[in-house]
Amino acid sequence: MTQPFSITLLGTGSPRPTLDRHQPAGLVRWGEAGHMLVDAGDGVVSQLLAADVPLEGVHNVALSHMHWDHILGYPAFVWGSWNAGRLKLRVTGPIGTEAMHHQLVESYYREQAEWAIDLGFPRAGFDDISVSDVPVGWQAEIDGCQVAAGPVYHPPMHALAYKFTYQDRTLVVTGDTAKCDELIAFCQDVDVLVIDACAAAPSPDLPPARQRLIERLHEFHASPQDCVDIAAQAGVGKVVLTHHLPGIEPEFDASNYRGEVVIGNDLDIIEI
Ligand SMILES: [Zn+2]
Ligand SMILES: [Zn+2]
Repeated sequence: MTQPFSITLLGTGSPRPTLDRHQPAGLVRWGEAGHMLVDAGDGVVSQLLAADVPLEGVHNVALSHMHWDHILGYPAFVWGSWNAGRLKLRVTGPIGTEAMHHQLVESYYREQAEWAIDLGFPRAGFDDISVSDVPVGWQAEIDGCQVAAGPVYHPPMHALAYKFTYQDRTLVVTGDTAKCDELIAFCQDVDVLVIDACAAAPSPDLPPARQRLIERLHEFHASPQDCVDIAAQAGVGKVVLTHHLPGIEPEFDASNYRGEVVIGNDLDIIEI
């Protein structure tokens, strides 16, 4: 029987806060309880609740990179899910993930965690969080799903894409990236690609300084057109554009692409 396999887009926004798009995060789910939270931007806890996901059941987190918009919600997730009863947690990410956990959680909050444990919180779920820096090429099987880390181009950060292969269906979530050949190879023939489309052309109405800033984003983010071109070149079945800047409509010409283009919105569920 075909088992469920989906990604819930928890945050499809960018660093500039807006009410309708939270910062980047997505929950990949497969089978009965298989799951991976990919990124944890600001708002991730309230968006998990809005998506009816029990916080205590989220045990697997993969971070794409350490830019603030992808991790501001991480300490809130660790505390919120522990408070809700989470007893274990495995976190993977590129170089810098262990240091981030140490600085944002362990170093600053250890004393408060000990106080909470003294109040009656279980030690499990805070003391035994497993955090690993992993390289491109890392693979693991989690509840019957193959998860693999792949290459992106997002200088100067160490950054990873993640591929999920479950019952012959495949999903890639890129995190932040400019268009690059290595990513196209990693996405070859996948069913669904959720990709950073942040480098949309700036509106001519914006002040010149803001226009210049948005133009520079293209050095390390894909444009909506790049995303469609990557999907076409890799033979992707459906491409989902995310990481949108406020007030910008993604524009692209998909006449050379045979698959489907979706503009991702918060709390959309994309079936794989
Ligand atoms: Zn970034
Ligand atoms: Zn970002």
